[in-house]
Amino acid sequence: MSSEKQIRVGNVKIGAGASISVQTMTNTQTEDIKSTVAQIQKATSLDCDIIRVSCPTEESCIALKEIIKQSELPIVADVHFNYKRALAAIESRAHCVRINPGNIGDEGIKEIIKSAKDHDISIRIGINSGSIEREILDKFGEPNVDALIESTILNVKKFEDLDFFNFKVSVKSSDVLTTISAYRKLSTSIPYPLHVGITEAGPVFSGTIKSSIAIGTLLADSIGDTIRVSLSSSIEDEIRVGKQILKSLKLLNNSVNVISCPTCSRTLIDVIEISNELEKALENVKKNLNISVLGCVVNGPGEAKEADIGVFGFKPKIAKIYLKGKEIGIYNEYEIVQTVQDLVNRLLSKLI
Ligand code: SF4
Repeated sequence: MSSEKQIRVGNVKIGAGASISVQTMTNTQTEDIKSTVAQIQKATSLDCDIIRVSCPTEESCIALKEIIKQSELPIVADVHFNYKRALAAIESRAHCVRINPGNIGDEGIKEIIKSAKDHDISIRIGINSGSIEREILDKFGEPNVDALIESTILNVKKFEDLDFFNFKVSVKSSDVLTTISAYRKLSTSIPYPLHVGITEAGPVFSGTIKSSIAIGTLLADSIGDTIRVSLSSSIEDEIRVGKQILKSLKLLNNSVNVISCPTCSRTLIDVIEISNELEKALENVKKNLNISVLGCVVNGPGEAKEADIGVFGFKPKIAKIYLKGKEIGIYNEYEIVQTVQDLVNRLLSKLI
């Protein structure tokens, strides 16, 4: 059950069955146009779909105009507290603005909606537990999931009452169970696209696990239309984790899936090194391919026959390689990565 309604951020469709898009956010000073554009170009090369750029100052909103001109990705301007920044970002041709209605205020929201309508752009409504309305907090006694949902519905209604429907919604929490519960409820309460993620998920190791559990659980139930993995790490890591979540759920077409064993005392080739090298080398390949790398003949031949390209340890530092279920030869360990890459290139060129 993807959302009923669909919006666009630039040329990227969100919701109503559109492909799940992956977002990240620049962490440069937005006023530093060169560094910000360089980060966006990096994100573009990793197949990120949408990029968010924070606009906390007047200067950043002005810089945004030049950044947008140089960006291949649609840009969401991230604005807090001052609605005038959102208006300036829209004037700079942002493709979407992300606001938290709780820190913008009703008058500011009206102005932003008017400008978004004039420029035909979408808005992301980001709700968090810190900005739940007083009367809702009094009713529930604490900022729990039900309070978050009630606050979200109240704010969604404000947008609808202003005759504005071109928005997606996020409910922020750094807690995995709260996030899953909130989005499950939200998905049955409103028809709008949902931006899903764990906020402030943490450093790369724990943040990846938390994000994968929350985003993965929701997407497996078809809840969520666009995702962002928020890590205290590089944008590269955020995009890679986001893409891997989609790959794992078969929500990303044209990508390489590396299957490899955990290794044990039978291991005859360096599975850990080879599988890591292959995953990195093939991450931008646009073709659905299963590549198996196993350490020995216990499961190696079986997996190799199922995979598009299969490698398994046959003797110490020696592997057999299979292509589309057929053995193509015996290789030294040091030849494996290059041989598999060559096979992938030939598959891409339809030479085999
Ligand atoms: S495939 Fe072989 S080497 Fe790898 S974990 Fe299984 S038994 Fe061990």
